[in-house]
Amino acid sequence: MKNIKRELKNVGIKPIEEISIQEKTNIAEKLANKLVSLNVPELNYNEILEKLFQAKMYRAIMNSNIGKVSYFYKNKTIYFEKNLSLVHLDEDIMHECIHYLQDQREKKEKLKRIGLCTFEEFKVRGMALNEIGISFISNKLLNKYDKNKTFTLLSQILLITGEEVFLDSILNNNDKFQEKFMDKTNSEVLYYKVQNTFDAMFDLEQIIKRLNFEGMESIKPQRYLSKINMHKHTLNSKFSEIQWEIYNKYFSRKIELIDKIEEIKDYKKEIFNFNKWLEISADEMKYTNFTTEKFEKLNKIELEILKSNANNSMILVGDNKINKIIRSIKKMIFKPKEYEANK
Ligand SMILES: [Zn+2]
Repeated sequence: MKNIKRELKNVGIKPIEEISIQEKTNIAEKLANKLVSLNVPELNYNEILEKLFQAKMYRAIMNSNIGKVSYFYKNKTIYFEKNLSLVHLDEDIMHECIHYLQDQREKKEKLKRIGLCTFEEFKVRGMALNEIGISFISNKLLNKYDKNKTFTLLSQILLITGEEVFLDSILNNNDKFQEKFMDKTNSEVLYYKVQNTFDAMFDLEQIIKRLNFEGMESIKPQRYLSKINMHKHTLNSKFSEIQWEIYNKYFSRKIELIDKIEEIKDYKKEIFNFNKWLEISADEMKYTNFTTEKFEKLNKIELEILKSNANNSMILVGDNKINKIIRSIKKMIFKPKEYEANK
């Protein structure tokens, strides 16, 4: 316990006292209600409520750099800044309480995973993706929309996998989202690349935010400008690269699976819709060429389907003929009664 105290001090948290039962009840009931409203399978109101009741929640004096709410993994405790109102659940309260709900341990209390983030022996995977995922949930619950590169990228990915499986994996700590993405793009490697890119982009966005803030406070703001622009440039190029790779892999894979006329129409609709979500700057031609090439391929596929349908219907005609012959042969062998009578 002494260790925990020291560690808390190191990050800038000085606990004061537990929050009141009423405050805890309010948080638990409100959050459980909100999360259940997302209609995620297996997410049960009473279970969430019970889990949150068991959580340790404290008021604390907190350093401004760690925010007004913080879930501390080492002692599984949620700390709230001493003057923070706990009546309405703001984004931070929801975010940290979701972290608490996600917390999954293995033997000896070793952290195993939190939502989309897994802790392996030598590597933590999907940290930023999980962070952005929780922000996505709290934005959804607060009817907000963040307009930045990581959110745009996430929105594009959700066009491919659907939202349901994403929420399911964040709140139920499972691999369904990962598996669906790998299946739809036919690539495991791409999923790991997406995880890493989110980590890098998330860091860059935090750095840019910090520099913007420091620049505003500084007497020489122009000194920050070139740094900010440099990071923005890196952020944009990371975004462009992964956007293209996801788009290319997904639509290249999907076209291979088409064997019905309706699927051609769906594909066209989907690619048109996806194109609206793209953020394209200098590489527009790449996307135009890709779409054109896929449309040409769709025409070929359509012709082939029509041709094979025509062949199949000829076989059907043939089958009918053969059936007729078989029936008349049967008639002759079994010699129905009227056949004899007619004779
Ligand atoms: Zn977080």
